[in-house]
Amino acid sequence: MVPEIREWFELERYVAACYYASGAQVFLQGGRCPDGGVDLLVLSGGECTVVQCKHWQKAVGVKELREVVGAREDFRAAHAAFASTKGFTDEAMRFARRNGVELIDESTLLATVACFADTIDFKEAFDYFSRQCPECGSELVKRFNEVTKTAFWGCAAFGKTNCKHTEPYDRRVMEPRRAAS
Ligand SMILES: [Zn+2]
Repeated sequence: MVPEIREWFELERYVAACYYASGAQVFLQGGRCPDGGVDLLVLSGGECTVVQCKHWQKAVGVKELREVVGAREDFRAAHAAFASTKGFTDEAMRFARRNGVELIDESTLLATVACFADTIDFKEAFDYFSRQCPECGSELVKRFNEVTKTAFWGCAAFGKTNCKHTEPYDRRVMEPRRAAS
């Protein structure tokens, strides 16, 4: 299986499946968080890693790296990782080294996928972490029902087309642990 990463949610899906295939538990977060949230929470060996994924047309800079370091604190996670299909600026790479952020560029990701692609775990995770609307193929995004105060996955094409597909926001999600106050 050779990845063809055309969309952000495909990048997220490959990264999630690689972590899962390596034996970790993976929790999808809301996706496309504009506020520096995280895309994945990964639990392995009793430790948590926050993972951010960017599918940009340019290298990721230091601002985004700072955000994932902040998220590592918010989630009280031990580790932080950042996946980018267009790599990282020099400044961002220096920042990552100083702050212990694991950087996953496209070649690293492809090499990891190549290791795991034929495993049952990878295939299972790859299906599980799909964010594609089964009705129309658009992305599924986290939405919030203001009336019932519950989150759900909704089709991103809602409003643009008449696709109204939704799914429950189930246990793929683990909310951050709150800091003791
Ligand atoms: Zn749809």
